[in-house]
Amino acid sequence: MARPEIRVEGIGVAPGVAIGPAYLYAAGAYQAEPEKLSPDAVEDELARFERAVARSERELGKIAVVARQKLGAASGGIFDAQTLILRDSQFYDAVVAYVREHASGAGWAVQSVLAEHRQRLEASPNASLRERAADFLDVQNRVLRNLQQGQAVSRIDTNRVVVAENLTAADVLLFSRRGVLGVVLDFGGPTSHVSIMARALGVPAVVSLHGLAGHVRPGDVLIVDGFSGAVVVNPTPETLREAEVKADRFARLADDRPMLIDAPSETRDGHRVALRANVEFREEFPLLQEFGAEGVGLFRTEMLFLTQGRALDEDQQYEVYRDAVVAAAPHPVTFRLLDLGGDKVLPMARREANPSLGWRGIRILLDKPDLLRPQLRAVLRAAAAAPDAAPAQILLPMVSGLGELRAFRRELAEVRAELAADGAEHRADVPVGIMVEVPSVALMAGAFARHVDFFSIGTNDLTQFTLAVDRGNDLVAGIYRELHPAVLGLIAATASAARDAGIPVSVCGEVAADPRVTPLLVGLGIGTLSASPAYLTLAKRVLRAFTLEEAQDLARRALRQPDADSVARLLDYFLACHNSDLAALLGLESAGDSLSDRVSARLNASDA
Ligand code: PEP
Ligand code: MG
Repeated sequence: MARPEIRVEGIGVAPGVAIGPAYLYAAGAYQAEPEKLSPDAVEDELARFERAVARSERELGKIAVVARQKLGAASGGIFDAQTLILRDSQFYDAVVAYVREHASGAGWAVQSVLAEHRQRLEASPNASLRERAADFLDVQNRVLRNLQQGQAVSRIDTNRVVVAENLTAADVLLFSRRGVLGVVLDFGGPTSHVSIMARALGVPAVVSLHGLAGHVRPGDVLIVDGFSGAVVVNPTPETLREAEVKADRFARLADDRPMLIDAPSETRDGHRVALRANVEFREEFPLLQEFGAEGVGLFRTEMLFLTQGRALDEDQQYEVYRDAVVAAAPHPVTFRLLDLGGDKVLPMARREANPSLGWRGIRILLDKPDLLRPQLRAVLRAAAAAPDAAPAQILLPMVSGLGELRAFRRELAEVRAELAADGAEHRADVPVGIMVEVPSVALMAGAFARHVDFFSIGTNDLTQFTLAVDRGNDLVAGIYRELHPAVLGLIAATASAARDAGIPVSVCGEVAADPRVTPLLVGLGIGTLSASPAYLTLAKRVLRAFTLEEAQDLARRALRQPDADSVARLLDYFLACHNSDLAALLGLESAGDSLSDRVSARLNASDA
């Protein structure tokens, strides 16, 4: 009997549509048992541990080579990070000490030592950090497998959709060599390494499906929509036909991506809009070139600290920032200074009753010069790494009052003077901008504009604070709407103040990655959009389909709407009129029922 069609929604993390038979992949989750050694067996056990580590190093080295061949020089970074863990004293020496002290089997020691690191990350309220725990789990599985002499198991039949609870970035890379069609995972989020890798390799992927793997049988046909996050198991013939049309459209869009990367980033009538990338980790740097980003619009530097669970010193930061500046040249990198607090806390942080409204962002930096100053020194030094490029930019997080800006300027002047006195190579002509993510700043944007070099609107937090809706709380997710006319009003006010003052304004919140919203943001007067690199070519495709005047007209109408739903309908209609291929791909049109018809019918009905 035919199995019924099942539809589930996850998070689409790598755009594209895949259709094919499922391959159920059970990643080798290796488990060690407690084992008490006789005292004279300890040294042999340590030699066995060393052999397993050396073998793991060789494996990771090979994978890093493949990554570099397929994705460019800096892509081995994920695997280099795991290799570093292998020889890090907090792992290697700690395992040796554990084996000696407890006369324990090496497997149990590895598991115990890494569990501590993993638990720290897994307990974090921040989703990106929780995802980083996967690195430690990968290392654990690899070393345990090598201790148990197991074989690496990333071999699959060609042309399959891989279904798994979780995968490592290495798995995705090796699967891609076997022509994997798509990836569907129970765990993971948009910023997990596996998602970053899938985006880079162009493998459509949906994550965070919570238990789907348990409902799929080998060979079941799957449809994976990496845009919308929809996954269909055992589609009916009709669903399958619709998906095939969609996959075909996507393939045609993907075909002209190389051409699009070289095309100017401008509206149909030649109005320029810069498309920049949001990055968090070193391994994303090669994507800047691959997706034609005009530099980095938002480098969330706090992620470096949070993944390590501790502060990085000036030189450690400098090395990463320098690589970013070199990767982005001749375009600028916008370094957002540490945005700690809220849901991004270091282990030593104090508990607060209301962390989103508490000690965070610039408030922490001004209270803690030992965090602010090394970071400023590292940024100004790194900015000198590409002297002919546009200067790096400094972006201040969570600013709510002008006093913070004045205090920051004093710190910056002192750090510049200190670098000059030290004779350290650095660049002083670094523009300073602020995140506009607290309503007080948007409401007083005119006053702020006189004191900064640029604005970057953080719609994620601006929405949270304007609508009083916790951005991470499932219970209120339905009323968290970036398209709420009140939020749009604040964006418009900020853009207009920036225009009057002659300073650039960008949007770097998640809405900038949504191609439906591109025309609205341009119409509201935004000159730069910054989003995850894989979404930039989509934004450019939309951008090139409308004129500035059309976008401005759309923005005027959006600002008059009573709620987010009506704004969304307006945007869907606009996209369907200007780029029907993309609109269809985004699910805005179904067979025999053109979107424009449906939307006009709905608009007419609501007018009546
Ligand atoms: C934002 O708030 O929109 C933003 C870009 O910053 P983050 O998501 O890191 O808070
Ligand atoms: Mg923010």
